[in-house]
Amino acid sequence: MKGNLSKKKVEELRKRLVRKPELVWDVLGPGEKKKVFEFAERYKAFLDSAKTEREAVRLIEVFAKKKGFKDITRARGGRRFYKINRNKNIVLAVVGKKPLISGVNLIASHIDSPRLDLKQNPLYEEVDLAFLKTHYYGGIKKYQWLARPLAVHGKVIKKDGSHLDLDVGESDHDPVFTIADLLPHLARKVQTEKKVSEAFEGEKLNVLVGSVPIGDDETKERFKLAVLQYLFDTYGIVEEDLVSSEIEIVPAGKARDVGWDRSLIGAYGQDDRVCAYAALEAVGELKTTETTAVAFFIDKEEIGSDGSTGAKSRFLEDFVADLFEVTGEQPSGSALRSCLMSSGALSADVTGALDPDYQDVHEKRNAARIGYGVCITKFTGSRGKYGSSDANAEYMAQIRKLFNENRVVWQTGELGKVDEGGGGTIARFLAIYGMEVVDCGTPLLSMHSPFEIASKADTYMTYKGYSAFFNT
Ligand code: MN
Ligand code: MN
Repeated sequence: MKGNLSKKKVEELRKRLVRKPELVWDVLGPGEKKKVFEFAERYKAFLDSAKTEREAVRLIEVFAKKKGFKDITRARGGRRFYKINRNKNIVLAVVGKKPLISGVNLIASHIDSPRLDLKQNPLYEEVDLAFLKTHYYGGIKKYQWLARPLAVHGKVIKKDGSHLDLDVGESDHDPVFTIADLLPHLARKVQTEKKVSEAFEGEKLNVLVGSVPIGDDETKERFKLAVLQYLFDTYGIVEEDLVSSEIEIVPAGKARDVGWDRSLIGAYGQDDRVCAYAALEAVGELKTTETTAVAFFIDKEEIGSDGSTGAKSRFLEDFVADLFEVTGEQPSGSALRSCLMSSGALSADVTGALDPDYQDVHEKRNAARIGYGVCITKFTGSRGKYGSSDANAEYMAQIRKLFNENRVVWQTGELGKVDEGGGGTIARFLAIYGMEVVDCGTPLLSMHSPFEIASKADTYMTYKGYSAFFNT
């Protein structure tokens, strides 16, 4: 039989039966290409001023207010609300026409990124130089943090209870900080011949912050003292204030266009601010919707979602209860449960794109690729899907149909070969409520590095996908 088919027929068959992944650049109309690049500019501006979860919350609140969202703890009536949890979580909602009890459309992204946190007693001196000791947060390759400009961001609560926000190293006038690396001439035994996991120690991620002493030869710890003097003169901080601080060391510098064609964005913290920003624009521009749209921006994803600002906390539930109250629906326990149980969610998180130089760790037919649109990941986990919430076929069908109908360019992908490693997202913590959930986000190269790479085309399709999702 098959030998009898004409070339034309075979081609027809192929078109009808085979799924062909689409490269976003191939299918964008001229008007849409412009939108892709305009979206990227707004997204880069967000990346530049939201390098920590606290900064992201501040920025999202400003955005929300501009778009007419009201603080739900003070609002009386209306349809657009937000709520902040301990300055590290924020959630926005646009109340739809359907009753809340029938469920919400939820997009949950995270606004924390891998970084170096200061230890509780960070400041010390060694060989006449002053340093800060750090404890890394999230999954980093330690060597990527050496010999590069670093910035200091964070919050200090002083003895008198006053708050201080630190942000040093981003403007051209600011100094930066750095972690010195060993010269190659002397690195053979202590670094080069060792396994990478042993060659770079967390305890050596010490940040250089000064080299001019005060006093004279007799003065004890005079390099450390000079830094303390500077901190006191500039900010009114004493050493003990650092105990009640959260100071994060992040790569200094702005998001940049990458490539002659400027088609890519290179920046720190795109995991997961790319999904967060896409969700933010999508919820911000909603007018009226059938189903209530909820954009949830959470903290602590990179260290397992524990803590009062992580996905395992009850903040989402609390906010949905507030929504019931403010809209006048009966906020009973069973109504709340029904609402969450009937909801649909996108766990909006990035995925690792097929790395051209390490293709062997991926399974090419099921790896996300740069430029092929927003990636739907049915399951994550490792060692036999362990730790995955694994989306239902029925829910996959809904999302696939939605994206196809709205011309969202999408792909599917899983993180690496079956036995290679793996990772999880917050999908499983949302699934606890019984809601449908699937991972859906932007593929990145150099994921979890100080300079992650995203395609502007994929970034835009992520936004377009989230927008379609909220509009159902
Ligand atoms: Mn992530
Ligand atoms: Mn991550």
